[in-house]
Amino acid sequence: MKAVMYHYVRDGVDRLPNYYYLDITDFRKQLDYFDQEFGFVERESFLAYLRGVRSTPPSGVILTFDDGLRDHYEFVFAELQKRDLWGIFYVPTGPYQTETLLDVHKTHILLGEVSGSELLAETHEIIEEKMIPHRRREEYKTKTYKTHDDIKATKEVKRILNYYVSDEFQTEVLDRLAARIGHEPVDVSDYYVRPEELREMYQNGMTIGAHTVNHPVLSKLDKREQELQIHDSFAHLDDILGDMTLRTFCYPYGNDATYNEITVELLNSCECEWCFKVESADITDEDIGSRPQALPRYDCNEFPYGEASGSIGTNSK
Ligand SMILES: [Zn+2]
Repeated sequence: MKAVMYHYVRDGVDRLPNYYYLDITDFRKQLDYFDQEFGFVERESFLAYLRGVRSTPPSGVILTFDDGLRDHYEFVFAELQKRDLWGIFYVPTGPYQTETLLDVHKTHILLGEVSGSELLAETHEIIEEKMIPHRRREEYKTKTYKTHDDIKATKEVKRILNYYVSDEFQTEVLDRLAARIGHEPVDVSDYYVRPEELREMYQNGMTIGAHTVNHPVLSKLDKREQELQIHDSFAHLDDILGDMTLRTFCYPYGNDATYNEITVELLNSCECEWCFKVESADITDEDIGSRPQALPRYDCNEFPYGEASGSIGTNSK
């Protein structure tokens, strides 16, 4: 079994962010490719195997889509329905509660408007010492760099915003960057799947999973804060969808350093059946048996037709 992860999937470039996205034509070609090469795992077979009701592992591809993006309703859901396929959609609930964009997406929008190196230069201008916790200050001074290579600069901006800057300053830094770059406010209801659309997807066989409230790096939070991120996101999805019959979750950013034992303990305690992280590997029988809270998942750009289009042309989380 292989799980594959997608973010933006869309038709054309007239929507924000104009940064990177998988073109719907390539998405269709990739689905054709998966169909020919591996086939798809049916939802019922997956659940039966996971729950120990079925002993032979199903083989094929499981499709997953992160961040509750409106693309998923507009382009992905329609395509999956046409092909009689199911997908798992991991939705952060913060935007429904606060009606603001998540910081991770504000970064994507900025990167859709100016080049990576331009944004990096602006970021260096804005960062003040007080915004970096003491323990990371020395590292910040020696390890962050300036570059005119846009792809490297883009990674560096994300590293500064997600890792070096204290959580309490993240929003402020992003808002100040937006003001310097002069970007227009974005309508949240055009950016994320709307609640009634999420219900329609859910009622038509799509699986909806939690992806925290506001997409933090969970391992940076204490137990109480992690608990809020996990419990509130499930509770809010329950409110939108009626009680969900199964619970699944995926870790924001998703590599091993982004969550810890406390996270897994909390997920077990709220009867979450399985979670995805990001790792280039197939899901083995052993994974299902011994670590269902850390199932590996490929990025779509690791397969044919999965390379992103857009101003930078690199896929990302
Ligand atoms: Zn995400």
